[in-house]
Amino acid sequence: MRGVPRRVVKSILESKYLVALTGAGVSAESGVPTFRGKDGLWEKYRPEELATPEAFEKDPRKVWEWYRWRMEIISKAKPNLAHYSLAELEGRGTLKCLITQNVDGLHRRAGSKRVIELHGSIWRVRCVRCGYRADVEEPPEELPPVCPNCGSPLRPDVVWFGEPIPRGAWEGALEEVSKSDVLLVIGTSGTVVPAALIPRMASERGVTVIEVNPEDTPITKISTFKVSSTAVEFFRRFKLMCKSDFTFSSNRL
Ligand code: NAD
Ligand code: ZN
Repeated sequence: MRGVPRRVVKSILESKYLVALTGAGVSAESGVPTFRGKDGLWEKYRPEELATPEAFEKDPRKVWEWYRWRMEIISKAKPNLAHYSLAELEGRGTLKCLITQNVDGLHRRAGSKRVIELHGSIWRVRCVRCGYRADVEEPPEELPPVCPNCGSPLRPDVVWFGEPIPRGAWEGALEEVSKSDVLLVIGTSGTVVPAALIPRMASERGVTVIEVNPEDTPITKISTFKVSSTAVEFFRRFKLMCKSDFTFSSNRL
């Protein structure tokens, strides 16, 4: 990649209501595997065997073993320059809301505050029967962990294939997109619905859609600007350009 087009930097810095949508790709450079794309998790595991309510009903231990492995990877991972830059953009008032499909919690760890987690969090469990919910700091030792209220298995509080996004999260995301004038889409394959509909809806409303992804996706066609780059490389260059090309740049960027 040669650089970030000046028009892209300008759109972001001059936006009135910037919203970001992130996917697994934003955490790839932190060492958290994506589901699809090069080195994606699904090349080794089949999603329908692991990330579905049916799979959990059939073999909760097997599903938990996979989640425990992922929790271990994520707990060792650190937020990268992309996570930190998004938090900084929020801090300087440019980014109004961050919608993420990720369950790893790295955006919050980097300091982002206005985060909508469409697919829940791997750091929360919930009871399959009574609705008990709790935060967890470490991968559970006993598998599956059991509910302290009713003794039923606890599951990761994430959205599995075939399950709806929690209503509050989805409605919140739609409201943010309806207010946006620029949507920055980073590291998503654009294949998991309904999250994948967000860039489409934005584009139909005339929002400037900027896609950052080393590969082309179904979002590429409807984007105003495509930056073929990794998330970290994008922000490295973005920050350099903020410093050199834009007098109104913030010192923090
Ligand atoms: P995806 O795995 O389907 O697609 C990842 C995308 O990221 C691909 O298009 C790939 O080209 C791109 N990518 C790879 N490396 C990148 C980089 N360094 N910088 C920028 N882009 C890069 O991910 P998705 O679209 O988020 O959908 C998958 C589902 O999987 C989501 O529901 C999400 O909840 C879940 N998931 C989450 C995590 C996580 O929390 N970190 C990890 C894997 C999957
Ligand atoms: Zn219970």
